[in-house]
Amino acid sequence: MWFRCSNCGKTSAFSLKETKCTCEGTLLVDYDMEHVGHTLTKDSLKERSATMWRYKELLPLEDEKHIVSLGEGWTPLVRMKEAEKKFPAKRLWVKREEQNPTGSFKARGFSAALSIAKEYGIKKVAVNSNGNAASALAAYASYAGMESHVFVPSDCPGLIVDECVQYGANTFLVDGLIHDAGKIISVGQADQCWHNVGTLKEPGRAEGKKTMGLELAEQLNWKLPDIIIYPTGGGSGIIGMWRAFKQLKRLGLVEGDLPRMVSVQEAGCQPIVDTCESGRKFKAQAENVDSAPTGMRVPSPPDGELIVSILSESSGKAIAVTQEEIKQSQQSFGKQGISSSPEGAATWAGFQRLVERGWVTSNDEVVLFNTSHAMKYLPWEQINIPNIKTYTDWLKAYFVAS
Ligand SMILES: *Cc1c(COP(=O)(O)O)cnc(C)c1O
Repeated sequence: MWFRCSNCGKTSAFSLKETKCTCEGTLLVDYDMEHVGHTLTKDSLKERSATMWRYKELLPLEDEKHIVSLGEGWTPLVRMKEAEKKFPAKRLWVKREEQNPTGSFKARGFSAALSIAKEYGIKKVAVNSNGNAASALAAYASYAGMESHVFVPSDCPGLIVDECVQYGANTFLVDGLIHDAGKIISVGQADQCWHNVGTLKEPGRAEGKKTMGLELAEQLNWKLPDIIIYPTGGGSGIIGMWRAFKQLKRLGLVEGDLPRMVSVQEAGCQPIVDTCESGRKFKAQAENVDSAPTGMRVPSPPDGELIVSILSESSGKAIAVTQEEIKQSQQSFGKQGISSSPEGAATWAGFQRLVERGWVTSNDEVVLFNTSHAMKYLPWEQINIPNIKTYTDWLKAYFVAS
C-alpha cells in the first residue's frame, strides 16, 4: 500500500505521520488491487468473522496480530417496509451503526487507527472530539494498553464525557468548539509526544469508516443503493465510503453507477451546505456557529473541499435541517422502532425533505445512517461527574510538571 494525494494524484510512501501532500491535498491510502483481488472475493468473505476486519486486505495494517478489535462492524441493515408504503422510495433501509462498541460508528475508525498505532509501537494517543470519537478512542486505547487524552467542548453530552472517564481516558472539557480543542492536541503532539488521532490527522480513521461502504455492498448482495444519506461533520464517513465504492468497482465486485451521496448538517453549522449552494471553493464557517453539540457540529472540517467534490462527483447534495425537525424526526423514527441519535434522526429529516422536493423518487433505493445511540445524549443537568477536569486544569498540571 502507498499514499495517493486526493488533490494532485501524486503517490508517496505510506507513513503514519504524513497526512498532507505538498499541494495541501489529503493523502489517502491506495492498495495493489490485483493482489487484494486474489484473496478478497465474494466466496472468501462467506467464511469470515462478523466484524469490519473481514475486509482486512483493504485496511492499512501489515500484520494481523496488531488488530485492536472490540467487535466493531457488521451492523444490522434494517428494511423500513412500513415507511416504504408511505414514502416514494422503492426500498428504504437504516444502517444501525449505533450497535457498534461504544454506541457509535466511530468505533470503526478507532479500531483501524489504533491497530496501526499499535503496529508502530505508539503508547500515547489523543483526540479532539464532539464526544463519540473521544469515547471510542478511550475504549480502544485502554483495550490496547495505551494512554489516552481526550478534549471535548464543555457542552458535550454529559453521558459521553462520563463514558470517556469510565474507559480511563484523561478527559478534559474545553471552552470552545471542536477545532479549538484541536489546537490543544497540536500542542500536546509536539510537547507530549501524543499520537494525534483527529479526523484526517492519520490514515486509520477514514480507512476504518470505509468499511461501512464495503459492508453495505455485501449486505445488499453487491448491488449498491441509489442514495445514501449521511450526517456529516468532519467528513471521514463520506470520504471513506466513497473510497470503498471506488475500490469495490476496481475489484469488479460492484457494477454500474455509484450512489448519490447526501450530506445532512444541522442549520447553524452548515459549511458543506453553504459551499454547495454557493458553487464556490470550500470555505469554513468562521462565525455564528449555532447548533447542538453533535457529531455534525464541525465548522472547519480538515478537507471540506474533498467532501464537496465527492458530493458533486456522485451527483449528490448537501442539505441543512433544523433542530426542531431533528427533534420531531427522533420521535417519528422512534415510532417506527428506531432509536436514533440526533445525527441519525437528521438523516430521516433529510430524507423527508428530499421526498418533498421530488429529489427522491419511487425508483430510488435509499440508505440512511443512524450513526449513534439515542441514549448517549441525555442533557447535562441529569448527570454528575465528580472531579471532571477542564482545559485550564490541564494547563496548570502541565506547566507545574514541566
Ligand atoms: C462524528 C459523527 C458524525 C460525523 O461524521 P463524519 O464522518 O466525521 O462526517 C455523525 N454522527 C455521529 C453520531 C458522529 O459521532
